[in-house]
Amino acid sequence: MTPEPIPFNRPYATGAELAAIREAIDNGHLSAGGPFTRRCTAWLERQMGCTKALLTHSGTGALELAALLANVGPGDEVIMPSFTFVSTANAFVLRGAVPVFVDIRSDTLNLDETLIEDAITPRTKAVVPVHYAGVGCEMHAVMDVAGRHGALVIEDASHSLRATYRGRPLGSIGDLGILSFHETKNVHCGEGGVLLVRDPAWVGRAEVAHEKGTDRSRFLRGEVDKYTWSDLGSSYAPSEVNAAYLWVQLEASERISRERMQIWRRYHEALAPLEARGVLRRPTVPKDRQHQGHIYYVLVESLEARNALIGGLERRGVNAVFHYVPLHSSPAGQRYGRAHGDLRVTQSASDRLVRLPLWVGMTETDVERVVEAVSDVLEEAAASLAI
Ligand SMILES: *Cc1c(COP(=O)(O)O)cnc(C)c1O
Repeated sequence: MTPEPIPFNRPYATGAELAAIREAIDNGHLSAGGPFTRRCTAWLERQMGCTKALLTHSGTGALELAALLANVGPGDEVIMPSFTFVSTANAFVLRGAVPVFVDIRSDTLNLDETLIEDAITPRTKAVVPVHYAGVGCEMHAVMDVAGRHGALVIEDASHSLRATYRGRPLGSIGDLGILSFHETKNVHCGEGGVLLVRDPAWVGRAEVAHEKGTDRSRFLRGEVDKYTWSDLGSSYAPSEVNAAYLWVQLEASERISRERMQIWRRYHEALAPLEARGVLRRPTVPKDRQHQGHIYYVLVESLEARNALIGGLERRGVNAVFHYVPLHSSPAGQRYGRAHGDLRVTQSASDRLVRLPLWVGMTETDVERVVEAVSDVLEEAAASLAI
């Protein structure tokens, strides 16, 4: 009997979500800003150590809000990796800005901090580090170079709830940070996100932009007696139904991280012999960074080996996927962005990376099956080369 295929991802539910959604319905407040939204934002502000957390309908929405607050306009430049999700760039392009794509480090696959300075021009308004797989970027260097050139730092911490860099939560280090609660992320509500504001001076504008350009937040606190259109903004907040689902997940987030880390470590140990024999490379996590098992990936020899591995795993009932077609080589990236340098590491990582299944509820046997399948496919490939 062939066992059930192992999916790449299975959106997690603790089992308590439905009762929370029921409670939201019984509260008679389903639009944004109700009791569940308040619990989520208070939790996030405490956990992240930031001044203000504003829930959004997606990580993409949070990035758009950050781009709006950063006041980037036509012709302004924003430095970011090309090895990231489209929304990192799209959010700024919507404001007329030009993404300037810089290469990544070959160890963490994060923005190469040594290349930032050379990409800076008088039009550079912001640097957007993306913490791939919840492993932090070289934040001291990023903050230093941005600070010296008067550029903002906006962290795309979509992968990174509960991950830290030298003890500090990712997403709380730059001027602004965002997290995603999409169903593929560790903690989710189907679609969701949050904008994190560190500097109290930004809070007023952030609240206005988040509330369709009105001062409704101040009105609700009784600080003004009516609310009015006061600046640019849009509708970014999620409904209480989503906030209720998210609240349950935030409360369970420590356990979720722990369980994912267990699976991550199993992969890491079991794949060590294959790395020692030079048939794949495992992820690198610098000692001063804590992650939370968001992604387990391996890097193989070439694009052909990558495709063969994904195909071979599929035939063995294991759904594995690649990650990120580089933005600088995508049609919109070429139209709206600019590559700085040759982005060799980006292209190579994109060609050679395979993400393995990782979700809460995977058993030890599941992990063993994946490891055996990886090992089988790579052995076969090595044998066919030897002939
Ligand atoms: C998931 C993700 C986002 C945001 O995605 P949403 O689906 O809009 O929540 C942004 N950047 C990166 C790097 C991501 O992985």
